[in-house]
Amino acid sequence: MEQPKDATEATRGFNDAFATSLPHDTRQDFEDAGRGFIGSIPDARVEAGGGRVVWDMAPYAFEADGLPAPATVNPSLWRQAQLNTRHGLFEVTPGIYQVRGFDISNVTFIEGKTGYIVVDPLTSAEPAAAALKLMRQHRGDKPVTAVIYTHSHVDHYGGVRGVLSDDDIERGLRIIAPEGFLEAAVSENILAGNAMARRATYMFGALLPRGPRGHVDSGLGKATSQGAVSLVPPTESITATGTRHTIDGVDIVYQLTPDTEAPAEMNFYFPQFKALCMAENCTCHLHNLYTPRGAQVRDARGWSRYIGEAIGLFATDADVEFASHHWPRWGSSRIVAFLTKQRDLYKFIHDQTLRLANHGLTPIEIGETLRLPPSLAAEWHTRSYYGTLNHNSKAVYQRYLGWFDGNPARLFPHPPVEAGKRYVELAGGADALLAKGREAFAKGDYRWVAELVNHLVFADPDNIAARNLQADALEQLGYQSESGPWRAIFLTGAQELRMPPRSARRRGLPGAQLRALPADELLDAFSVRLNGNKAGARDFAFGIQFEGAAERWRVSIENAVLHHEVDAGGSTAPLVQLSRHTLIELAIGETALDDAIADGRVRVDGGRQVFADFLGLLDRFEFFFAIVEPGEEVA
Ligand SMILES: [Zn+2]
Repeated sequence: MEQPKDATEATRGFNDAFATSLPHDTRQDFEDAGRGFIGSIPDARVEAGGGRVVWDMAPYAFEADGLPAPATVNPSLWRQAQLNTRHGLFEVTPGIYQVRGFDISNVTFIEGKTGYIVVDPLTSAEPAAAALKLMRQHRGDKPVTAVIYTHSHVDHYGGVRGVLSDDDIERGLRIIAPEGFLEAAVSENILAGNAMARRATYMFGALLPRGPRGHVDSGLGKATSQGAVSLVPPTESITATGTRHTIDGVDIVYQLTPDTEAPAEMNFYFPQFKALCMAENCTCHLHNLYTPRGAQVRDARGWSRYIGEAIGLFATDADVEFASHHWPRWGSSRIVAFLTKQRDLYKFIHDQTLRLANHGLTPIEIGETLRLPPSLAAEWHTRSYYGTLNHNSKAVYQRYLGWFDGNPARLFPHPPVEAGKRYVELAGGADALLAKGREAFAKGDYRWVAELVNHLVFADPDNIAARNLQADALEQLGYQSESGPWRAIFLTGAQELRMPPRSARRRGLPGAQLRALPADELLDAFSVRLNGNKAGARDFAFGIQFEGAAERWRVSIENAVLHHEVDAGGSTAPLVQLSRHTLIELAIGETALDDAIADGRVRVDGGRQVFADFLGLLDRFEFFFAIVEPGEEVA
């Protein structure tokens, strides 16, 4: 199997030219990222039980300050990677502290009269606990007095059990979140969850080796921690901008920002500290309007408006601005300048995309055309380390105009395998196509290689020369990418192409996401597993009663569609009694129905066959489905 290669001459030339195009570096970001450093633990290394390492900066030692960008890393991404490699406890302002570099996100501690208010306790419990320990070591062994979740993404709540004990939760310690938090946290990623999770392995490069030819940074932070993820629901919701709290002597003023970076999100201000928390609405780069793992696109216009509102509400009074990723900014004029340009960054992309769309340009053309104006391009915090100008403009197009670009030639094309066969024939056969691909590779036209050779890989995934050439091209594109996710996507594609065909397939962790769902949403999630072809003309119904729940559900199949509703009573349909957990195990094939009936986990009232039929109609999703090559036939 081929291994990662060095940068070609073309890539060296590209990255050298890129370096000369970058803004002047005053090193202000490095100063800000290091300001207020108090202390850390060696390599920020955190272990879970049994010595399993869930976080470790040691593999990124190759990015140490002062080292020049290797030829295999875009020099701008290299700079961001170096900034994101700092770790430890930092003073934001006296009374407000952040632990950065213990996860992809930051956790913030606010000192109250008696203890600490925790803002955004990271992705998993072990790094969150290590961060709290570091805080206590330097600032005193005080209790946690409240938790605030800025928004509904897992890197901001998943580690909460690392800062809260069972006792804290039982006695109802205040946990504050924006309105709609729980619904968004639980359901944003469920119905398309398998596809998103698989694609996330590309976007975050979790399976890439760390190193100059592998993973260097995610742009938004280093990477995601790998400890225990949990969700403790909030005890109260913020439902209006202007809401004020005093918690443990600390005044907080909230600004709700729904449908911005997350469906449920909020900024807030600490008047006593003159400190503004911008959640994840303003980070030190261009964020995603579309996240390439796949998700609904975000509203650039609303996002920009809420940043504008924050400027009016808070910015002129603030001495420091911080967020749940990256480093803070100090000084009112710098804060206003930063927020103003962040506001205009998203509005510029929104407005100019629609201007060009109204001229008839298609998404690919708009992405190729769009350039930031000089004032925005002069900043480091507008750069494409996470979202890119290219794919964010496509997100705006999609939000208003959808996937079809209007050209009938793209309304009804052949699918990839069929198109691939025809392109190979057109090229004069596999060898002729490969020769053309190699010519383009030698010229450094890797985008064309990727498009051309992809046809051959889909026509014949066993063509190892094609797979390797395609991998080589994707790899150079990765080495040239300024965006952490783009780099990871290209390099992960290269890695999977270099494996023997289909060897990437291994079983994932089916059902892990399902376990967190309430009954209603669990049954919803099953409806996208119903195999419509198998269901055909089947038409039946049964009742489900989950253990410990009062209500019964009526589940029915008709027109190859799965329905569920609360059973109002009086139904004569067969009844199945079981736990939600058992239903998940049966549905994903971890338990056989006969066994579950035999050991009493399932009780069926005259409906064994109906329930067995239902389970037989549910598809099981393969986590490692094919991306860079044809998949198995799915009926
Ligand atoms: Zn985040």
